[in-house]
Amino acid sequence: MTAGKANLSAAGATPGVTPGPGLVVCAPLLPEARAVRRGIGDGGEVRVSGYGPERARRQAGRLRQDTFGALAIAGTGGGLTGDLTPGDLVVATEVTDGAMATACPSAVLLAGELRRAGLTAAAGPVVSVRRLAGGRERARAVEPGALAVDMESAWLAGAAGGRPVAVVRAISDTPERPLRSPAALAGGLRALRSLRAAGPALTRWAAAAGQRRVLLAGPRSFCAGVERAIEIVEKLLEQQQPPVYVRKQIVHNTHVVADLERRGAVFVDELSEVPDGACVVFSAHGVSPAVREEADRRGLVAVDATCPLVSKVHAEARRFAADGYLVALIGHAGHEEVEGTLGEAPEAMALVETADDVARLSPPDPGKVAYLMQTTLAVDEAEEVAGALRERFPAARAPGSDDICYATTNRQQAVRAVATESDLVLVAGSANSSNSLRLVETAERAGVPAHLIDGPGDIELGWLAGVSTVGISAGASAPPAMVGEIVAALAGLGPVEVAERVTTTESIRFSLPKEVRSP
Ligand code: SF4
Repeated sequence: MTAGKANLSAAGATPGVTPGPGLVVCAPLLPEARAVRRGIGDGGEVRVSGYGPERARRQAGRLRQDTFGALAIAGTGGGLTGDLTPGDLVVATEVTDGAMATACPSAVLLAGELRRAGLTAAAGPVVSVRRLAGGRERARAVEPGALAVDMESAWLAGAAGGRPVAVVRAISDTPERPLRSPAALAGGLRALRSLRAAGPALTRWAAAAGQRRVLLAGPRSFCAGVERAIEIVEKLLEQQQPPVYVRKQIVHNTHVVADLERRGAVFVDELSEVPDGACVVFSAHGVSPAVREEADRRGLVAVDATCPLVSKVHAEARRFAADGYLVALIGHAGHEEVEGTLGEAPEAMALVETADDVARLSPPDPGKVAYLMQTTLAVDEAEEVAGALRERFPAARAPGSDDICYATTNRQQAVRAVATESDLVLVAGSANSSNSLRLVETAERAGVPAHLIDGPGDIELGWLAGVSTVGISAGASAPPAMVGEIVAALAGLGPVEVAERVTTTESIRFSLPKEVRSP
């Protein structure tokens, strides 16, 4: 195992600053401070920091002399985009007065926590302006992309001095419901209610703040089969006019699918949704022969992105079935890969998920049983079921080489290695990603709390309280950039030292199908 090391601090951090205990919340006006105080109770000190840039600057000067662990700025604000309505919360990813900016990298964590609390919260830039302007005039005055506007945050946030900082603005008015309109009072009251409701999340955010170590499992993220499948769709999008149809998710990851959708891919559940004669890609998980036959019948141009390691299992299923074996497939019911493999010889195959399923098998000839595995299983669990098969059918034939693929095995080994050194393990991956779920289970079996997250917004702040080392891995279908986003968000809670534990390196590449190969 090899190790690498890097340091990341909260954005704008003064190197060496270690957040101490204690949350200070600055609320510009008394009603805002009251609302926040009711929400956080004894969870922090709430100050009335004063209205407008001058008072904010003076308060920032006082804050610079103070000792505190984390700084939050909470108040009402003006919404700048059409999708915001009074009472919505905006958590600043950055606050700027146009001249200087303070980044708030943990915004995505806090916004996620607020949404889980049932509030409507968005993360994005907030702009502080020097004078009160309402309605469309104000919307024009601030930079494009900003979600909300206020008159204090940029100057107050600068006083954090590298400590964790959060800015939460509850929308009281919008360009459609400007400050001086009859609706403004109702908007203000809704905003104050939201500020109060945001209090518990703010205290959890402050409790999660602190210096910590991040251990990255290596290998993690994309495998060769996933890279190949994505590249096939990308090449088709380059070669022909969108849409490019893809049967099922090309790989089980919401970010990958959303990105390809933006670029013109259309994901369908069944071939019946693809127009006659169109081009359709089969996903990395593979399809049954019945799907191929239907595509042929319909005159569809099928491009096969099935991972070659899944195709290998299909070929084994065909071979064993042709030789008169009952083929027990160890896997999970309903998974697309399992459905595709079972479809190779439905009359000669049986799905076994547990040792109990093995006990229920009734092969016509107990001397002719073979078994195969889904490629993304947990190695130790699959071995338990295989052991039960061998015990009941001593002559059972095993696959020629491991069906659980190299990428699954390597990622499980690596996550086990980081779990032994971590207080918490986070696995990037989507909820329907089998290999990502197995990584969570592998870490849990190593005795560490572990969670599957689709992105940093899924991290519950309560998981982080008191945690000094976080292990991070990513399933074979999760984009590598997602790990960077998770580390950046954690760095918003305090200085982060990043190290990597590499248990093995991978160099496998699969060639592309002829339809998309460069000449
Ligand atoms: S996880 Fe394994 S079987 Fe699945 S696409 Fe990746 S390499 Fe292929």
